[in-house]
Amino acid sequence: MGRLISLIENESPQLREVMTALMPFTGHAHVVGITGSPGVGKSTSTNALVGELRRRGRRVGVLAVDPSSPFSGGALLGDRIRMQDHVLDPEVFIRSMASRGHLGGLSWSTPQALRVLDAAGFDVILIETVGVGQSEIEIASTADTTVILLAPGMGDGIQAAKAGILEIGDVYVINKADRPGADKVRRDLRTMLSLGERAQDAWKPPIIKASATKGEGIAEVVDGLEEHLAFLRSTETLGRRRRTRARDEIEAIALAAMRRRWGAVGARAELDELADRIVAGSLDPYTAADSLLDG
Ligand code: GDP
Repeated sequence: MGRLISLIENESPQLREVMTALMPFTGHAHVVGITGSPGVGKSTSTNALVGELRRRGRRVGVLAVDPSSPFSGGALLGDRIRMQDHVLDPEVFIRSMASRGHLGGLSWSTPQALRVLDAAGFDVILIETVGVGQSEIEIASTADTTVILLAPGMGDGIQAAKAGILEIGDVYVINKADRPGADKVRRDLRTMLSLGERAQDAWKPPIIKASATKGEGIAEVVDGLEEHLAFLRSTETLGRRRRTRARDEIEAIALAAMRRRWGAVGARAELDELADRIVAGSLDPYTAADSLLDG
């Protein structure tokens, strides 16, 4: 699995063959995205969730994605300190992945890495983002269930609202509930969620207080994940989410292929020629783009 994920990081041409071979084995894993500001307790919580899932007999894959760092040849964060509890467990696979390659980053690489873990037969795959920003939302779009972590003392409610992550949570966790202020964060969050638009029969995201370091509330979080999966299955939502994910993936691969083609020597000459005509005023950029696409 490690080697297959390296192929993805290295944007290997062999991937086409690999993905074809893996497809029949996919579609079984519950993909859970874990997101939240740096320091909120993502890796500590992930470690605790792995422990609880293992107690329930699940095989667990963990993918820590770092969207900000360029490909670095693998296990940069694979031995992340807070996940050391599980390194010797053969039913747990933990791998970090840098995703800022040439071909379009997260949307290109993450679904493929998920497929590798899915085909390997993991029941649950946790994707954790390392780093900040828009990538969190991108990660959420690749998951069946999105967990949003908040913590007291971080101004998180407001941050979350700003980043637009309030709409995307399926399970909210107020981590560090052993610290003062957790109830206030929960109240604020509840208010903010009640202001948002959700359909009548839609999933009502639970807000769970937890302490990842003490292991408190973690079983409730896993209950929340399982209930959400059951909800997705009982409605048409699971298929819909996965279709959206597949659509994004096709688009990312197609765009990457086009970019790669235009980067090739012959195509570059064609692109330069079109560019020269635009500079000279003898061609408009729309027609130029059409001719490129037709090619
Ligand atoms: P990440 O950056 O979101 O992955 O956060 P980490 O998991 O690295 O945690 C950041 C810091 O918060 C570490 O020092 C953790 O020990 C601490 N931390 C994580 N969970 C809890 C918790 O439930 N309670 C307390 N008091 N500290 C926590």
